[in-house]
Amino acid sequence: MSYQVLARKWRPRDFASLVGQEHVVKALRHALEQQRLHHAYLFTGTRGVGKTTLARILAKCLNCETGITAAPCSKCSSCVEIDGGRFPDLIEIDAATNTGVDEMRALLDNTAYVPVRGRFKVFVIDEVHMLSKSAFNSMLKTLEEPPEHIKFILATTDPQKIPVTVLSRCLQFNLKQMPRAVIVAHLEKILPQENIAFERDALSLIARAAAGSMRDALSLLDQAIAHGAGKLAAADVREMLGAVDETYLLRLLEALAGGDGPALAEIAEEMQSRSLSFDSALQDLASLLLRLTLAQTVPAALEEDLPERERVLALAKAIDPETVQLCYQIALQGRDDLSLAPDEHAGFLMTLLRMLVFRPDGVAIAEKKETKTIASEKKAEFDGNWAALVQKLPLSGAAKELARNTELKSHAGGVFELTVPKTMAHLTGDSYREKLQAILGAQFGRSVKLQITAGETNGATAASLESAQKGARRAEAVRAVQGDSFVQDLVNLFDGRVVDSTIKEKQR
Ligand SMILES: [Zn+2]
Repeated sequence: MSYQVLARKWRPRDFASLVGQEHVVKALRHALEQQRLHHAYLFTGTRGVGKTTLARILAKCLNCETGITAAPCSKCSSCVEIDGGRFPDLIEIDAATNTGVDEMRALLDNTAYVPVRGRFKVFVIDEVHMLSKSAFNSMLKTLEEPPEHIKFILATTDPQKIPVTVLSRCLQFNLKQMPRAVIVAHLEKILPQENIAFERDALSLIARAAAGSMRDALSLLDQAIAHGAGKLAAADVREMLGAVDETYLLRLLEALAGGDGPALAEIAEEMQSRSLSFDSALQDLASLLLRLTLAQTVPAALEEDLPERERVLALAKAIDPETVQLCYQIALQGRDDLSLAPDEHAGFLMTLLRMLVFRPDGVAIAEKKETKTIASEKKAEFDGNWAALVQKLPLSGAAKELARNTELKSHAGGVFELTVPKTMAHLTGDSYREKLQAILGAQFGRSVKLQITAGETNGATAASLESAQKGARRAEAVRAVQGDSFVQDLVNLFDGRVVDSTIKEKQR
């Protein structure tokens, strides 16, 4: 006996076996039981959520030989032929390949004939939004005055592309994406009947990869069974999907919360050595960040059985909500940029570093912390540039103020003659002078004497040099930030603007 793929074998054949679309099923059951039938239905929803499956079930309900019913018998020849895909009065068209007005005319000509076998001729038009405008127009006339024996069931992933005139003549149902828990529960029900042993984590991985589509979940399940030689282990499934072990992502976010750049690089390296897909890593990182936001805003919405729940909750406390939002955006953007990066690892690492350096209070370049390198310049000879020397000295408080505001008049043999503006004469007291003297002594490795007088200065002080440099660096920083394409993307994403006053120049 040949193997039948699970997606086909377990395709629901009645409302009772259809999972995850309770709201639609309830409304349709009610309409059928009350015999309040509409002549055109529109099922909307993303791919793989069960639109055509539902259309076939509805066709059975309408044509079952036991009468119009919400519970078709699945035994009469009409039911059996519909299930087998060979019922002459169920006409399925894929609008993605039959878009033209000629195809539509041929189809509509067919509506004039009474059903061959059934009660109704049922036309299922999948991806109906692909029809041309003229095809829609010719369909419209039939929709306005449909023959009694005709039912239209339209399905689409993109209802916005359907003309309003058509929409208004259909009874519309929106099919939801299948929640992961529903997919897992369904797989858990199927597997024992297929005599296949499984680990629950394997099912969660499949459900996540299926992204809301039961059909995709069942195809992946088929693949996983083949891959694992008849059983389902989480490790095998993870390998098959190229899925990323969540502990890597948690470690990344923990390093991010701790501002630990080297750890980020190390983890990214480790992930590369295991050949993990960086694209899925960014996708998973984005969903983990979504969970942090949930934990921060609607804790009740966080799944009870979430793996590593405690660690997620701790991260939600450690990283502020705005930063989580920004990291989420950066992760999405990073996925887009991945194909443009020198290589995937580089693109991934760059994305992580962006998360590390960007902070949401204004779009600021992170401060680069450079340790002051006094040691290497120690014992150097004085080159005559007093203002530059002062900038290098490890000074603080009033001694620093004194040094910054003095100008050099002369120097010889370790004696420095300095002038300070009259307005700062109060700084010339012995204690500040002695402190400055000691530090200069340490700088040059010899004894230094300072003579400070109050008088006229000419702007050659460290203070005025600094303010000029600061102005230039700020202008440079503003230019760099404004010109950075990533910043521009952020500005567009958040519909915001860069507040120049929040840009900090690099610290020296
Ligand atoms: Zn039947």
